[in-house]
Amino acid sequence: MKRVYCVLCMIIVFSQYSFAARLGHTKVDFIGLSELNEAQQTKVKSWINHGLDATEKTLGPLIQKAVPIYLKPQYFAFEPVPWAEVIRGELDGVELQFSRYSSLKQLKNDWTLYHELAHLYHPLLDYKDFWLTEGLATLLQNQIMKDSGIITYDNMMMRLKAGLERGQSNTYRLSHLQDARLASVSSNMWQLNAQQWVYWSGVAFFIEAQYQLKLQQAQYQTIAELIKAYQSCCKASEQQSGRQFLMELDKLSKTALFSNLYLKYKNRTDFPKLKQKHLNAL
Ligand SMILES: [Zn+2]
Repeated sequence: MKRVYCVLCMIIVFSQYSFAARLGHTKVDFIGLSELNEAQQTKVKSWINHGLDATEKTLGPLIQKAVPIYLKPQYFAFEPVPWAEVIRGELDGVELQFSRYSSLKQLKNDWTLYHELAHLYHPLLDYKDFWLTEGLATLLQNQIMKDSGIITYDNMMMRLKAGLERGQSNTYRLSHLQDARLASVSSNMWQLNAQQWVYWSGVAFFIEAQYQLKLQQAQYQTIAELIKAYQSCCKASEQQSGRQFLMELDKLSKTALFSNLYLKYKNRTDFPKLKQKHLNAL
């Protein structure tokens, strides 16, 4: 699952963009388009435009005035998008390694772009809180794909359940760890090979949070609606702690559920066990 290792964020200074195109809402700056032939350029533009449209349909328009997309077309790849990462900077963007020979359909069916674009809706968090942002983007990627008809609701649920099972197995395999607190495992995720544990604990967190939003009849009933509101009013431009980020979500939803859940999750050493009632909130 190399593609889930996607957010090694780095700060870069943007210099020049080779092409720009305007979508319905947010402008896209394509960097590296000239490495492709004309037909490939058309395909890639359609893919990115579709991805952004789908993402904005679920999460609302991005507030930043443009999204830089760094294109790294590959000649040999075993899958349509073998690697991607968010590039943080004055304008947050996405770097995509992709097969230049994949069809438009294959590219649209791949989840990676939706995942990376979802990351643009939250600020960069500290490493110990990596589980929060990866969980959020993983849950949202599935909802974006479902809302745009790329996958069905049943398929989304199947993917989420399978992921949670992988998270559970990964946690079980690493049960010998001396320091198995989620915050600590997140900080050392690469060395520990604990990606499934970290990502899917975060997904469980946000599923549980959505259940609570509904139970408490909060102003926003879903994580997607809440993130949409957060993006339009309050997204921090600087790196911050998970606690700060969640306090903003609490403020917006007029609850304390995110901060409370965070206390329950950050030092837990087991994998969260969700009940059917939690999954029913999706
Ligand atoms: Zn990610």
